[in-house]
Amino acid sequence: MIQDARIVAGFTGAGISTESGIPDFRSPGSPWMQNKPISFDLFVRDAKARREAWRRKFAMDDLYRDARPSQGHLAFASLVASGRMPAVITQNIDGLHQQSGLSEGQIIELHGNGTYARCLACGRRHELDWVRYHFERNGEPPECMACGGVLKSATISFGQAMPEEPMRRARKLAASCDLFLVAGSSLAVYPAAAFPAFAKDSGARLVIVNREPTPLDELADLVIHAEIGAVFSKFVS
Ligand code: NAD
Repeated sequence: MIQDARIVAGFTGAGISTESGIPDFRSPGSPWMQNKPISFDLFVRDAKARREAWRRKFAMDDLYRDARPSQGHLAFASLVASGRMPAVITQNIDGLHQQSGLSEGQIIELHGNGTYARCLACGRRHELDWVRYHFERNGEPPECMACGGVLKSATISFGQAMPEEPMRRARKLAASCDLFLVAGSSLAVYPAAAFPAFAKDSGARLVIVNREPTPLDELADLVIHAEIGAVFSKFVS
């Protein structure tokens, strides 16, 4: 199917990073499920919630700071390098597609990126080391150095609007591809999980590679229930 396709759209979820040592969201024992998520609304209006969000963020970063791209990430990077895959649409926030060699134009991040922070007022990017230095010194996250606004990890939280530009780019790619290749997603988080069905409706073939069944398996032209590393290392070689 890859050989037949003119344009392949990649679509990845947390499952592609488990082989890099970062647990996914829904598998048993997930650290992401241990605390009640802090909604965007609460983050914005409550300084105590902001402190807690940053405390959790830095604790998680300490656990996964050595994560490196998996065979799955490298396989997607080689599909992009082959010229067949214009970009990878990802729900992940870990920056591992970037580390595998993809440029910003080759990655469409639907849920943002947890490797830096942004000001909620002016959008200015801030590096996490700087935020952490101030947080640990003062017990408070710093304000934006440009406008004094509230800083937040550049991820999309529960209750936060989806980012417009990545959504637009993902829609365009899903509508124009002839193969939509999903790897490592439970396809349970909307609106991201709407893209495979949208691509299928627009005429693409749909392939899902995931350890467990997903709600869209019946719609797919090919479903492989297996480990991403094993599947992708085979076809890339
Ligand atoms: P999910 O946890 O809901 O689903 C991951 C799926 O991948 C599961 O069905 C699991 O069976 C499968 N899987 C795990 N390891 C696998 C492997 N080695 N081979 C094959 N399949 C494997 O993840 P999701 O669908 O991406 O949705 C979760 C949300 O949580 C997303 O919004 C994402 O932003 C966020 N999240 C991101 C990260 C990350 O950036 N690495 C980690 C956790 C959660």
